[in-house]
Amino acid sequence: MTTQVWNYLAEYQQEREDILDAVDTVFSSGMLVLGESVRRFESEFAAYHGVSHGVGIDNGTNAIKLGLQAIGVAPGDEVITVSNTAAPTVVAIDGTGATPVFVDIHEENFLMDTAQVEAAITPRTRCILPVHLYGQCVDMAPLRALAARHDLVMLEDCAQSHGARHHGQIAGSMSDAAAFSFYPTKVLGAYGDGGATITDSDETAANLRRLRYYGMEQHYYVVQTPGHNSRLDEVHAEILRRKLGRLDSYIAGRRAVAARYAEGLGDTELVLPSLAPGNDHVYYVYVVRHPRRDQIIDALKAYDIRLNISYPWPIHTMTGFAHLGYQTGSLPVTERLADEIFSLPMYPSLSKDLQDKVIDAVREVLRTL
Ligand SMILES: *Cc1c(COP(=O)(O)O)cnc(C)c1O
Repeated sequence: MTTQVWNYLAEYQQEREDILDAVDTVFSSGMLVLGESVRRFESEFAAYHGVSHGVGIDNGTNAIKLGLQAIGVAPGDEVITVSNTAAPTVVAIDGTGATPVFVDIHEENFLMDTAQVEAAITPRTRCILPVHLYGQCVDMAPLRALAARHDLVMLEDCAQSHGARHHGQIAGSMSDAAAFSFYPTKVLGAYGDGGATITDSDETAANLRRLRYYGMEQHYYVVQTPGHNSRLDEVHAEILRRKLGRLDSYIAGRRAVAARYAEGLGDTELVLPSLAPGNDHVYYVYVVRHPRRDQIIDALKAYDIRLNISYPWPIHTMTGFAHLGYQTGSLPVTERLADEIFSLPMYPSLSKDLQDKVIDAVREVLRTL
């Protein structure tokens, strides 16, 4: 079988009984939407992060969108974020009617360059949206200081950083609200789409519950628009609830894979992931860098290894965001890195044999480049 950056089948083999039991539990409960499993997952997920509320949402994109709406982002506002992220971060901002504003990233760790944020603030700025990309956190202290000084709200995009820590604090507990995706590849993944938004604020939580439920607080009566149908499915909530108990072991598995790459490839010309100060990385993806990236990816196909690029196109250069008016060259670090980064296979159930096959093939390809 082709080696790819991600594959859930080994996990499913290990956890099959529990996953199928979760499905049966829900199907036998008599309650398929917003039942006991969603309620329990929400409170357990919030507790894992040490915050008061978790609200299950149908996917990560909507967890960001409804999260932004719940903390007061409205059409015409500006939201400061990065262009080196998964497109859904920016699609979600766009979906609120707000305007995304981009700052560049750090060359070494690919994360938001927080020193550039203040210059991007205008009278229309309402929110800062740091993306804890690839599995490690953005430097939060300067952002919190800016948010306080300019009276802005902040939402963390934690879709890639379940369980990551920053100076000891867990990702998702450091701002007004935080959005998670449970897309199957993620550090905590469902067996389909899923998401959640967490918050310490009672008001924000109430807003989220209304926003995901057509704008209703009780059946059949819309209190306020906008409203959406964006509920987390009961069956995914039950699977996630069980997997949440194993999240720390998934993270340990990812760290073991990362350590083996560091050992096997540390002496090559590949630039391996670098840890930003105060961070504990959870390695959602293992992103490396090389100026001849495309040749390397191409050569690895001969070894039946198919790699990914997260992400090949900076968002501000996509036709879908041409209306934002960014020129090529406006975010030089983001644009340069997009041509050089690629991801090696990374998931906790990746076997040592398979990983060694990847390491050996990469070494061979680099040697003959
Ligand atoms: C996966 C991801 C999302 C979107 O999540 P979906 O569940 O796929 O909608 C948003 N932001 C980032 C950074 C992601 O990696």
